[in-house]
Amino acid sequence: MASNYLDRIFENNRKWIQDKLSLQPNYFNELGKGQNPEFLYIGCADSRVTAEELMGLNPGEVFVHRNIANMVINIDLNTMSVVEYAVEHLKVSHLVVCGHYACGGVKAAMQSADLGILNPWLRCIRDVYRIHKDELNTIEDEEKKYDRLVELNVQEQCVNLIKTAVVQKAYRQRELTVHGWVFNVHSGELIDLNIDFEGILKEIMEIYHLD
Ligand SMILES: [Zn+2]
Repeated sequence: MASNYLDRIFENNRKWIQDKLSLQPNYFNELGKGQNPEFLYIGCADSRVTAEELMGLNPGEVFVHRNIANMVINIDLNTMSVVEYAVEHLKVSHLVVCGHYACGGVKAAMQSADLGILNPWLRCIRDVYRIHKDELNTIEDEEKKYDRLVELNVQEQCVNLIKTAVVQKAYRQRELTVHGWVFNVHSGELIDLNIDFEGILKEIMEIYHLD
């Protein structure tokens, strides 16, 4: 069964090539020339939250980074390299952190189980809970609290993104915006949390200002 499943993937790929070429014979020649995406998308690794498909974007249109619970952790060399490359070299003008309801990473952080190597990663989500515990503790319904923590986590990861030197430097030189979105896996809807980018930036620059 596993090998049939893998065969299907390679078959799909051959069909995909044919579909692309039938619409545009030089499609792959163009694709091979390079990328110039407008967006950096940082999302969850969850298999249900596919970046390009849910946004209806094509190859070349979005630079994607995914990890458990769409975290932006300043000592994570992987995420920081992606952000540096996207902002400094690809010069993307929109940076998106996209969370999703029913996020297993956020759920795990709400519980006290010992999850081994995941502990330090989840601790960063628990920090979000701590920062917003006054608000979260007023929500009695566990599902609503869970949804709200997903949203607050997105907001805090946007803050982490804005704290980076590369984002602050780029903001002074050109148009650049950070967006916080949530994907509703129950309805398929993409929700803009309308985070106050300028306000957060101003507040952050007072403390985290970098020359
Ligand atoms: Zn998730």
